[in-house]
Amino acid sequence: MKKHNFSAGPAILPASVLKEAGKAAVNYEGMGLSLLELSHRGPEFTAIIEEANALMKEIIGLPDGYQVLWLSGGASTQFFMAPMNLLNSDETAAYVDTGTWANKAIKEAKGFGNVEVLASSKEKNYSFIPKGYKIPKTAKYLHLTSNNTIFGTQLHKFPKSPVPLVCDMSSDFLSRPFDPTQFGLIYAGAQKNLGPAGTTVVIVREDMLGSVQRYLPSMLDYRTFVAENSLYNTPPVFPIYVSMLTLRWIKKNGGLKGMQRRNKTKGAVLYQEIDRNPLFKGTTAVEDRSLMNVCFVMEEKYAALEKEFLKETEANGMVGLKGHRSVGGFRASIYNAMPKSSVQALADLMQDFAKRKG
Ligand SMILES: *Cc1c(COP(=O)(O)O)cnc(C)c1O
Repeated sequence: MKKHNFSAGPAILPASVLKEAGKAAVNYEGMGLSLLELSHRGPEFTAIIEEANALMKEIIGLPDGYQVLWLSGGASTQFFMAPMNLLNSDETAAYVDTGTWANKAIKEAKGFGNVEVLASSKEKNYSFIPKGYKIPKTAKYLHLTSNNTIFGTQLHKFPKSPVPLVCDMSSDFLSRPFDPTQFGLIYAGAQKNLGPAGTTVVIVREDMLGSVQRYLPSMLDYRTFVAENSLYNTPPVFPIYVSMLTLRWIKKNGGLKGMQRRNKTKGAVLYQEIDRNPLFKGTTAVEDRSLMNVCFVMEEKYAALEKEFLKETEANGMVGLKGHRSVGGFRASIYNAMPKSSVQALADLMQDFAKRKG
């Protein structure tokens, strides 16, 4: 039986995507060859990456002037690659500190220019999203993390900014519609909401590039990937293929509006249960709750039951629910591909557990 996969990442993918990817790994489109053994410069992969780019542009509604790039190195590489490509050493970039990943982005940016941290929710263990901070017009860009995978908070509204936004969207990429025109650069590791680990999507507005003075190694210069259509060297062929399949699935299921509808419904099932169940409570400000990573703990009175509940989830075929060590308790990652039935199964178990133990 297929398990209920609540893992934070690498994470659940649509069942139809996995099935098709499995076939392609053995015999791609009846060619008698695996996609894994085909040239990245051949007509098959050319068609795949072109379809992936076209679908990405269509699904997001990207206007002209934006490029879709398929890189490797994970979102963690983007923590330094973005400032390396966008920020001169005498310029200042603005950052908002909303958790572990934002912190890593801040640390790396400091190696390339000045960093002004406009706001932080650190003193409350990142349980909310800071708002109402002033964005300096002189900043080169404002860096945000749209969804905080570890702490379970999400930016439900991007601030109006006088400077381009640079955004780590790794864990809520393509989970809802957004206006791309306020973003100068978006990056997302595929393994949370799009595909297998191994590729990172970068969406960049062309006019963001070319203003830094420093030497950029070819492989770390976005312009190399723009000029060569992500094919300067051998790209992560299979992760790009599987991501393309997921993009087809997103389109077929109503695009970003469809994803948002699905995600709101699933989020409501789980948060309602957390709020009504006397044994459990949420860990974040209600208005900043993430629809991707739902963090919750046991009420102090029942803290001793935590291990037992986790065991019961496992016995019921649910995996990946143990909370990150910086929050504790539980984290249910319910990305795009997570079916409502899995979320309902978890809510039902919480209810049943409360009946027996409360
Ligand atoms: C997982 C994650 C990362 C790190 O991604 P890697 O691809 O492992 O480098 C960065 N930012 C966010 C928001 C994440 O969820």
